[in-house]
Amino acid sequence: EAKKRGGNSVYWYSANLDEGLGYKVALRTKIQEALAHEQFELFYQPIMTDKGKVAGAEALIRWQHPTKGYVSPADFIPVAERTGQIIPISEWVLKQACHDLQQLKRYGIKSVSVNFSPIQFYREDFVSKTKAILEQFDIKPGEVTVEITENVLVNDTQRIAELLQQLRDLGLDVAIDDFGSGFASLRYLNMLPVNKLKIDRSFIENIHENSHNAAITCGILSMVASIGIETVAEGVEKEEECAYLTEHGCHFMQGFLFSKPKPLGELLKWAERQQSFENER
Ligand code: C2E
Ligand code: MG
Ligand code: MG
Ligand code: MG
Repeated sequence: EAKKRGGNSVYWYSANLDEGLGYKVALRTKIQEALAHEQFELFYQPIMTDKGKVAGAEALIRWQHPTKGYVSPADFIPVAERTGQIIPISEWVLKQACHDLQQLKRYGIKSVSVNFSPIQFYREDFVSKTKAILEQFDIKPGEVTVEITENVLVNDTQRIAELLQQLRDLGLDVAIDDFGSGFASLRYLNMLPVNKLKIDRSFIENIHENSHNAAITCGILSMVASIGIETVAEGVEKEEECAYLTEHGCHFMQGFLFSKPKPLGELLKWAERQQSFENER
């Protein structure tokens, strides 16, 4: 649980991070150190086409803590958002992902997805900074997808729509992440320059035998099909879920069934094996 007390310092108490220390840690300082000492790392998880080929990969940040091992983004991103440190973190993530894309492309992975935080959308220089990074790495249209959670869209929809259009004009694709888990609805899709939709993992779970999940997901798939938005199912873990989704017209899939998020080097090896399987077929 993170707590804000006095000033701007954020203290953190977590069974995960400071277990055994017995006192509250100023996580802000730890994050600062992590940035300075390059303790952040990107893992990559493949995104598959409905034909079982690799279409791209999502970059997922990990914090390799010197004594605690890998710390999950769920444990530090919310704090970094409160302290504003999410801004330098996000800049690092986009740069690193654009850098790694050059290597991913050599292994047949032609695009990369990056998670953006809502906090970024409130910075004056958000679009210009993004543009500078895309230029620095010579990114072509369609090579980078920005993922935003639907909660970003609920307030200030008009302003956010304009910012998203500016990102699209830079050649970025825009995906709504965790769709269905929050407050947005399909109604928003008409108002927003979004070209992909990632259906939340909770609706994919046992979709082949859970009629509630099947109804929601099929509703989303059929409505979206007519407006030219691509669909990605998140958290696909079972062959049966994959088969059901393919049969019902979902375009892309991501989940442990195909691969867990992996360090870049491991993902490249995975991609190489994947390609040799395909060549054998
Ligand atoms: P997300 O963007 O929705 O990412 C998907 C999460 O689901 C990842 O968790 C991934 O490891 C997990 N996942 C993928 N396939 C499966 C599956 O088959 N089963 C299950 N149970 N889980 C699966 P992760 O890496 O812990 O990331 C959690 C969240 O942290 C992300 O959710 C995203 O919202 C945020 N995040 C990660 N990296 C970044 C980043 O660089 N910047 C920002 N702003 N947020 C990030
Ligand atoms: Mg995501
Ligand atoms: Mg997601
Ligand atoms: Mg998520």
